[in-house]
Amino acid sequence: MMQGGADGETFRDGRVVIYVPAFDDDVTLAKTLIHELYHIDQLKRGIPFPGPRENTGPWERPAEEWEEQWWRNHPLNPLNQEGP
Ligand SMILES: [Zn+2]
Repeated sequence: MMQGGADGETFRDGRVVIYVPAFDDDVTLAKTLIHELYHIDQLKRGIPFPGPRENTGPWERPAEEWEEQWWRNHPLNPLNQEGP
Protein backbone atom coordinates (compact mmCIF):
# COMPACT_ATOMS: atom_id res chain seq x y z
CA MET A 1 0.00 0.00 0.00
CA MET A 2 0.96 3.62 -0.14
CA GLN A 3 -0.21 6.57 1.94
CA GLY A 4 -2.53 5.31 4.65
CA GLY A 5 -1.39 1.76 4.17
CA ALA A 6 -0.07 0.09 7.24
CA ASP A 7 2.23 -2.58 5.88
CA GLY A 8 4.53 -1.11 3.29
CA GLU A 9 5.19 1.75 0.95
CA THR A 10 6.90 2.17 -2.39
CA PHE A 11 8.28 5.59 -3.21
CA ARG A 12 8.62 7.38 -6.53
CA ASP A 13 12.39 6.73 -6.54
CA GLY A 14 11.90 2.99 -6.17
CA ARG A 15 12.67 2.81 -2.47
CA VAL A 16 10.48 0.34 -0.59
CA VAL A 17 9.80 0.52 3.14
CA ILE A 18 8.23 -2.42 4.92
CA TYR A 19 6.59 -1.38 8.18
CA VAL A 20 6.40 -3.33 11.43
CA PRO A 21 2.78 -4.58 11.01
CA ALA A 22 3.85 -6.46 7.87
CA PHE A 23 5.85 -8.79 10.10
CA ASP A 24 2.79 -9.92 12.09
CA ASP A 25 2.76 -13.24 10.25
CA ASP A 26 4.37 -14.84 7.23
CA VAL A 27 1.32 -14.51 4.98
CA THR A 28 1.01 -10.78 5.69
CA LEU A 29 4.72 -10.33 5.02
CA ALA A 30 4.60 -12.27 1.76
CA LYS A 31 1.53 -10.37 0.54
CA THR A 32 3.15 -7.05 1.48
CA LEU A 33 6.30 -7.91 -0.47
CA ILE A 34 4.30 -9.08 -3.50
CA HIS A 35 2.27 -5.86 -3.38
CA GLU A 36 5.32 -3.58 -3.20
CA LEU A 37 7.10 -5.58 -5.93
CA TYR A 38 4.11 -4.90 -8.15
CA HIS A 39 4.61 -1.16 -7.56
CA ILE A 40 8.30 -1.54 -8.51
CA ASP A 41 7.17 -3.21 -11.72
CA GLN A 42 4.74 -0.33 -12.36
CA LEU A 43 7.64 2.12 -12.01
CA LYS A 44 9.76 0.05 -14.42
CA ARG A 45 6.90 0.03 -16.93
CA GLY A 46 6.72 3.84 -16.71
CA ILE A 47 3.26 3.97 -15.19
CA PRO A 48 2.93 7.45 -13.67
CA PHE A 49 3.36 7.62 -9.91
CA PRO A 50 0.36 9.40 -8.33
CA GLY A 51 1.00 12.92 -7.09
CA PRO A 52 0.29 14.02 -3.51
CA ARG A 53 -3.34 14.99 -4.11
CA GLU A 54 -4.05 12.60 -6.96
CA ASN A 55 -6.41 9.64 -6.83
CA THR A 56 -4.24 6.64 -6.00
CA GLY A 57 -6.90 4.19 -7.25
CA PRO A 58 -5.38 3.56 -10.68
CA TRP A 59 -2.01 2.92 -9.02
CA GLU A 60 -3.23 0.85 -6.06
CA ARG A 61 -6.08 -1.17 -7.51
CA PRO A 62 -3.98 -3.35 -9.84
CA ALA A 63 -1.44 -3.97 -7.06
CA GLU A 64 -4.22 -5.02 -4.69
CA GLU A 65 -5.78 -7.25 -7.35
CA TRP A 66 -2.42 -8.87 -8.09
CA GLU A 67 -1.80 -9.42 -4.38
CA GLU A 68 -5.19 -11.11 -3.97
CA GLN A 69 -4.79 -13.20 -7.13
CA TRP A 70 -1.29 -14.30 -6.08
CA TRP A 71 -2.54 -15.48 -2.69
CA ARG A 72 -5.72 -17.04 -4.11
CA ASN A 73 -3.56 -19.27 -6.32
CA HIS A 74 -0.78 -19.93 -3.81
CA PRO A 75 -0.29 -23.61 -2.85
CA LEU A 76 0.18 -22.68 0.84
CA ASN A 77 -3.19 -20.94 0.98
CA PRO A 78 -5.33 -23.23 3.19
CA LEU A 79 -8.16 -22.83 0.69
CA ASN A 80 -5.95 -24.55 -1.91
CA GLN A 81 -5.01 -27.50 0.27
CA GLU A 82 -7.05 -30.62 0.03
CA GLY A 83 -8.23 -32.20 3.25
CA PRO A 84 -7.14 -35.69 4.31
ZN1 LIG B 1 0.18 -0.13 -2.73
